[in-house]
Amino acid sequence: MTDEQGTSGAVLVVGGGISGLTSALEAAEVGNDVFLVEKEAYFGGRVSQLNQYFPKLCPPSCGLEINFKRIKDNRRIRSYTMTTVKSVSGSVGNYEVTLETAPRYVNSNCTACGDCTDACPDEIDNEFNFGMNKSKAAYLPHEMAFPRRYVINKDGLSAEGAEAIKSACKYNAVDLDMQVETKTINVASIIWATGWTPYDPTKMDNLSFGQSDAIVTNMMIERMAAPSGPTAGAIVRPGDGKEPESFAFVQCAGSRDENHLEFCSYICCMATFKQMTYIRERYPEAKIYVFYIDLRTPGKYEKFREKLMDDENSTFIKGKVAEITPEPDGGVTVVAENAVTGEKISQKVDMAVLATGMQPSLATQGTPVDLNQDNSGFIISDPESGVISAGCARKAADVVTSNQSATAAALKAIQVSRRS
Ligand SMILES: Cc1cc2nc3c(=O)[nH]c(=O)nc-3n(C[C@H](O)[C@H](O)[C@H](O)COP(=O)(O)OP(=O)(O)OC[C@H]3O[C@@H](n4cnc5c(N)ncnc54)[C@H](O)[C@@H]3O)c2cc1C
Ligand code: SF4
Ligand code: SF4
Repeated sequence: MTDEQGTSGAVLVVGGGISGLTSALEAAEVGNDVFLVEKEAYFGGRVSQLNQYFPKLCPPSCGLEINFKRIKDNRRIRSYTMTTVKSVSGSVGNYEVTLETAPRYVNSNCTACGDCTDACPDEIDNEFNFGMNKSKAAYLPHEMAFPRRYVINKDGLSAEGAEAIKSACKYNAVDLDMQVETKTINVASIIWATGWTPYDPTKMDNLSFGQSDAIVTNMMIERMAAPSGPTAGAIVRPGDGKEPESFAFVQCAGSRDENHLEFCSYICCMATFKQMTYIRERYPEAKIYVFYIDLRTPGKYEKFREKLMDDENSTFIKGKVAEITPEPDGGVTVVAENAVTGEKISQKVDMAVLATGMQPSLATQGTPVDLNQDNSGFIISDPESGVISAGCARKAADVVTSNQSATAAALKAIQVSRRS
């Protein structure tokens, strides 16, 4: 165990997605020392998995790369990947926090040359791509990964694989004896920016996720559409690779449902409109059916919605999907009741996209720390106690809103530091 004292007034930011990066930078750039911890092997969070993001529909590199550079250049920020909080004691102005870092099995000598990947015979599911393809057990988490350092999944490595990658690495960077490390830090306040996770689609039995390759989630579409994704940008049916001629979007898949997520996930209507643009770029003639309860596109997103609703090959049906049934030809039938006409609709399509919502990460992970959370698991800020939430850890939101709350969280943390 090592001790790393923060100078008086230091801020801990938990979660290195767009919100955590923003909070860390805002606090550090006015002079606070910041510890930024991220549980994955890379920073950037869910935004790095998107193909494009609105409002500008730019790739995730726009926005993330500049933040990575600012983080790298700022000596007030100490950043740690594969790290989580194990315990917190003390009180506002003087928290003692224990951090735990999981072994990466690759040390700082790594030049990201990729020779270990080439030499590795073992494959694992590619989690970044939601298991739609495989990666080697020695891998770079994704194309834009920051820090640009490889990682080894030791559980997925055979004895032969271990030997192969060790001898392939010319820089002595592979260290399969690495152990879990703990360290304690002292901080004045803690910003929780632990974000969201896609709601588990298998929890909705009626939507049959996992029973047909034709049923995918909106985040899987993001990865398929991405040039660096599992299909190099092609939106095709997993399994048989069919180019779909028809799509159904199933809105509120899990959200606004007291048996699942009680709240509106805010983003999934806009995400569907965005993904309609991905489909149109690839399949100008494909039929698109959108099943919805309400279409929520607040503020400036209204114009985008209006444009896509004029699309002559798209049909919008106000009605909650009752079930999805796999068909023998590889497609699926989507069944719903039209809430306007009362008519029962059975629409056969080649691919159904579940617009699954955003569940706060800590609702599924749990936390070793006593936090004030609402019924859904969103963290309620309490600036008086120096525990502040930001981004999607606070509420379901888009990037712009997440960044605004991350900046506000930094301001609150700075105020705590000035008082302590
Ligand atoms: C299908 C879909 C499409 C979307 N498209 C857009 C779009 O086009 N435009 C837009 O503005 N928004 C879009 N969004 C929303 C966008 O993804 C969020 O606004 C954004 O990810 C919020 O960032 P965040 O940093 O708050 O959370 P996250 O991106 O979830 O980042 C949280 C980070 O915290 C880390 N973490 C979690 N738990 C811990 C822990 N215990 N310890 C340490 N670290 C932890 C995670 O690994 C992650 O890196 C979309 C959402 C969906 C579902
Ligand atoms: S671990 Fe070694 S072989 Fe693998 S990318 Fe890093 S330097 Fe190259
Ligand atoms: S944003 Fe749209 S799809 Fe998502 S929960 Fe709200 S109403 Fe449903």
